[in-house]
Amino acid sequence: TGLKKYFPIKAGFLRKTVGHVKAVDGVSFTINAGETLGIVGESGCGKSTTGRMIMRVLDPTEGQIRFEGRDIARIPASSLRKLRRDFQMIFQDPHSSLNGKMTVRELIAEPFVIHGLVSKTDIDREVCRLLETVGLREADRFRHPHEFSGGQRQRISIARALALNPKLIVADEAVSALDVSIQSQILNLMVELKHQYHLSYMFISHNLAVVKHISDRVGVMYLGTMVELASTQSLFRKPLHPYTEALLSAAPQPKRNVIQERIVLEGDVPSPAKPPSGCPFHTRCPKAFDRCAIERPALKEVAEGHQVACLLY
Ligand code: SF4
Ligand code: MG
Repeated sequence: TGLKKYFPIKAGFLRKTVGHVKAVDGVSFTINAGETLGIVGESGCGKSTTGRMIMRVLDPTEGQIRFEGRDIARIPASSLRKLRRDFQMIFQDPHSSLNGKMTVRELIAEPFVIHGLVSKTDIDREVCRLLETVGLREADRFRHPHEFSGGQRQRISIARALALNPKLIVADEAVSALDVSIQSQILNLMVELKHQYHLSYMFISHNLAVVKHISDRVGVMYLGTMVELASTQSLFRKPLHPYTEALLSAAPQPKRNVIQERIVLEGDVPSPAKPPSGCPFHTRCPKAFDRCAIERPALKEVAEGHQVACLLY
């Protein structure tokens, strides 16, 4: 609720703070148990920063993160240990997030060894169980990450994330580096695991087709703000925010027989160090009117479960 992350801009000999990059500027949303919330937006919109704040690897500048009834936004590092078990993260490039010197067995066992959850004699059995869960073979545990394909490496990351039996997995561009056919295999695996382990996902991606495939609800971010939040069905069927309309019109939609005209946005995304006054989208919005430069629209519910931040509604 009201999450903000401002990074100071330092300049000059004394490294004085001369301004702030408003990477995330007041974002509020809920992820329900067992739900996948997709977060879409162009690079630099603040979606990864939001995910990293939820994971508590980045401290929010402002705002609350409520988990099971308590605000975890500012709990001390010493209390984060338990949280580290409940929240796990999967990244775009498992090549750099998996230590290449370790065997798959060591990589998957590391989380539960650190947390002292599995006795030494049970480690092997547990590793084998996790490998099977993600569709790898038991013998794979003696190999190193570089011996695997990109998709298989992502399976290893998923096994490692599952090792602590988490409640929430934040996946940041988790399939973006993979070929399309491999992408759908990994997405299908994630869906299966979600049901099997009653997981929640925060699924961050710039790829609309991927987000549409996996999400129950979708949030659209622009310049550090959430501009629209709705069920996947209503967002893709009836986008309300002019930015969402433009995003969807630019994405290929093979199943639609109506040929939609592509909405081309003028200009570049403004710098988050100097966001526009009023509606952050007003400098590029095809539907902007006079009030848009003055008044910042709040995200509000305009149809059941469908929230939008635009003065037209
Ligand atoms: Fe466009 Fe105005 Fe709506 Fe912003 S508030 S999206 S500028 S119409
Ligand atoms: Mg990112």
